Amino acid sequence: MTLEVADVRRSLSDPRRVAALLGLDRGALRMRGGLAVCCPWHKEKTPSCSLSTGRDGTLRVRCFGCGETGDVLTLVAEVRGLDLRRDFHAVLEEAAALAGVELPPERLAPLPAPARELPALEDAVFDELVSPMLNSGRLDGSPTVAPVVRDLVARGLLEAARADGWAALPELGQGQAARLRFCVDVFGAELVERSGLATRRRGDLAWAWPRHLVCIPWRTPAGLVQTVQRRRLDPGEPKYVFPSGRRPRFPYGIERLRAAPAASPVVFVEGAVDVLARRVLDFGRSDGRVVLGVPGVDGWRVEFATYARGRVAYVATDADESGERVVERWSDDLYAAGAREVRRLAPPEGSKDWCDALGARRAAA
Ligand SMILES: [Zn+2]
Repeated sequence: MTLEVADVRRSLSDPRRVAALLGLDRGALRMRGGLAVCCPWHKEKTPSCSLSTGRDGTLRVRCFGCGETGDVLTLVAEVRGLDLRRDFHAVLEEAAALAGVELPPERLAPLPAPARELPALEDAVFDELVSPMLNSGRLDGSPTVAPVVRDLVARGLLEAARADGWAALPELGQGQAARLRFCVDVFGAELVERSGLATRRRGDLAWAWPRHLVCIPWRTPAGLVQTVQRRRLDPGEPKYVFPSGRRPRFPYGIERLRAAPAASPVVFVEGAVDVLARRVLDFGRSDGRVVLGVPGVDGWRVEFATYARGRVAYVATDADESGERVVERWSDDLYAAGAREVRRLAPPEGSKDWCDALGARRAAA
């Protein structure tokens, strides 16, 4: 573990690169051994927070305005609205994503949940707690959800997203804080914090990942919302996050399998967006196929293969190196779990994934 943390620290040791990756480079001033940026802890217009490379070769952060000090993980946590101690895994994942360092799969595994002071909520309680959040962020005509609606319309996914109960968080300053206060009023601060959706920043509860506006419910086979993935619309990284301690335990779309006839094929794709895209592409097809979204190629779990028992299974991962790399392993797992037949279904020439493929088909129509 220390080795990975050290790797992440080492790859984020250059003050200018770190400032650029975290969007702190605007108005930054060069100084000896690094640069000064506007401090993320205290609001200021003149940069007084110094980023430099320390004697051990890692990044040192020191603000001459408010006195905050730390290393690159402290900085990432503050900028991303995370608590370094409580959300350590999320901070590490975020820093690794910024650095382009791949964490070993067990680091990203959905279970066991990372150790935290507060126990994670049971699925039934989590489902109840997020239902007002998802309901008040319904993808209707309200101005607070407009950025998310526009994004989904542009990709031809709005109807499919609505059908699955996707929602939007208002932007910062556009009612985001009020939405949280509402949840706290109804459920109490402790439950909201235990949901992993909010985090304490100097005593105050705030949304974790405030820039990730798209809310994507991942369900249990019985249809309870087990976790809410969030996606950001701006170009920052990481694109997708899960609440702290609540990685998905089931593939996206699993709740549709129960109602599907025994002969329905299953199609495994990468992620929730591609599930929607694949469903739109499959519209009108009569084989009753069920599309299941694996949380990234590294999120595959052997037990997912059992959902294909007695069925035809399609491995429909992205047409890129990592997508191709897993075809053989998933196929082996699927056959071993009793799939009747396994076929590769690759996005068409020129498309990286199913969202691309849908875009290409819409452009041609
Ligand atoms: Zn400061």
